[in-house]
Amino acid sequence: MSKKKILTLPDPILREVSEPVNKVDKEIKHLMDDMLETMYAAPGIGLAAVQIGILKRVIVIDLSKDNEKKDPIFIVNPKILSQSKELVAYEEGCLSIPGFNHNISRPDNIELKWQDLKGKEHEIKPEGMLSICIQHEIDHLDGKLMVDYVSALKRDRVRKRLLKEFKRK
Ligand code: ZN
Repeated sequence: MSKKKILTLPDPILREVSEPVNKVDKEIKHLMDDMLETMYAAPGIGLAAVQIGILKRVIVIDLSKDNEKKDPIFIVNPKILSQSKELVAYEEGCLSIPGFNHNISRPDNIELKWQDLKGKEHEIKPEGMLSICIQHEIDHLDGKLMVDYVSALKRDRVRKRLLKEFKRK
């Protein structure tokens, strides 16, 4: 496993659409190990492959608390089958938009199809934090970011701040 650099706004790669994974092979497992290590080090609760510059539809999530045993979830080729009409707002943050937290409204419940580390297909109906987190990460796979949900003014402000930091690097 090795820790990778997390890309931040306004890196253009974050706006690309990720490609489906044909086969969950060694390379994908290796990628997921790197993603997990990168996410834990950040620290964060979810990471999409595009955030370390790999345009594959792969996500890792771990919602376990600090004092609990780690409980990683490996998600390949997620596909939302249905979503509830009721929206729920959670304060979200994003490792690719450091220092920016905002209440985002998303469908409360979703129905989801995905493949695990062995390529086996699953269907789940995540609720609450897990549902929100998965939707946030799927947005990444489609080149969409949290800032797309907020007002143009706020988006501009965070873009300008991060652009300055980006140029300094
Ligand atoms: Zn994010």
